[in-house]
Amino acid sequence: MPEHAQPADPDLHTADPEIAGLVEAERTRQRDTVRLIASENYASAAVLQATGTVLTNKYSEGYPGKRYYEGQQVIDQVEALAIERAKALFGVAHANVQPYSGSPANLAVYLAFLAPGETVMGMALPAGGHLTHGWSVSATGRWFRPVRYGVRKETGRVDMDEVRDLARAEQPKIIFCGGTAIPRTIDFPAFAEIAREVGAVLVADIAHIAGLVAGGAHPSPVGHADVITTTTHKTLRGPRGAMIMSTEEHARALDKAVFPGLQGGPHNHTTAAIAVALKEASTDGFRAYAHAVVDNAKALAEGLISRGFDLVSGGTDNHLLLVDLENKSLPGKQAAKALDRAGIELNYNTVPFDPRKPFDPSGVRLGTPAVTSRGMGTADMDRIAGWIDQVIEAEKAGDEAGVEKVAAEVHEFARAFPMPGLHA
Ligand SMILES: *Cc1c(COP(=O)(O)O)cnc(C)c1O
Repeated sequence: MPEHAQPADPDLHTADPEIAGLVEAERTRQRDTVRLIASENYASAAVLQATGTVLTNKYSEGYPGKRYYEGQQVIDQVEALAIERAKALFGVAHANVQPYSGSPANLAVYLAFLAPGETVMGMALPAGGHLTHGWSVSATGRWFRPVRYGVRKETGRVDMDEVRDLARAEQPKIIFCGGTAIPRTIDFPAFAEIAREVGAVLVADIAHIAGLVAGGAHPSPVGHADVITTTTHKTLRGPRGAMIMSTEEHARALDKAVFPGLQGGPHNHTTAAIAVALKEASTDGFRAYAHAVVDNAKALAEGLISRGFDLVSGGTDNHLLLVDLENKSLPGKQAAKALDRAGIELNYNTVPFDPRKPFDPSGVRLGTPAVTSRGMGTADMDRIAGWIDQVIEAEKAGDEAGVEKVAAEVHEFARAFPMPGLHA
């Protein structure tokens, strides 16, 4: 090698053993645990490979055929493919695949339709809504005027009469439906009727359920909602990213809001990985996956109910469960931390009408997208429910050995299921 030459381009292990070691440790952790965080999943090797490509080197401000930088011969084709696949999979007229993530996608919707101070209606965070639907600590709740609907105390379900009354009284310009902790089917036609009556734009935020919608395991908002936003990394099993879909009528306003309204250059490596995920999601195998996610959630719900757990709304229609632990006399955070020590990963969560504080609430949220991606089935869900019960009882009794016993069983169990993306 000539003396002035740079050393050969070293791989990650050589260039940065510290970070390489941490990536390896996280891979092992994901392999050896039962991951029940409802918003998480395992991306395939193909999706992971697409994210780690030279596409990250390219600036592409603008849209296919209308860019502000040269050299788009290849990137234009990548983005056009992602757009075409999104339109075909969801059956929409327009798709924007550039939002960096779900939160900026929602902010772009505000920018497209609202002036500061105008009214947005969304589900309250403690009832299952998302921060970006106008919650107070979010920019969306500070720069706009939020009004919020919730769920009925007796049913744990959205009260459509309350939604209609609130919409009539407050005249929002946009209405969000969807959220992060809604265990029941979202009634898109009913929301659409209310939005039409008050002249609001209906935005269906399907971040959590996009994979179920794509796979036919949850009704689609298409034909009801004017705008659909979604992340791509939850049930859809793609890279971290987002999309905005809409009717032709709103296409221009939404595109302008994403770029140049809110963002600069799109993340082309992510766009490529979104295209790969959309291709995967259009297969029969993915349809079967989406239905298996719901079957597993129902099985996990049954397993928990039979062990005396109290589920918000009494069960689930989709991929997630909200458990109110008040009757078990263990706070959600303490339960979540004990379960994490046992290799069962979930998050503590407020439950509707929670008497406790948001940072130390009464409930936990569980979901089956990731365990279903590992190939676990309904019988496995009952075993998992049994372990959850054992850990909670052990934690209440201060029996750390009991927690450790479960941890050993869980790790052996998890390792028996192949992990997508393990060798990407
Ligand atoms: C996850 C989620 C988002 C935000 O997505 P990020 O990628 O975390 O910004 C928005 N809306 C809903 C309903 C979500 O569940």
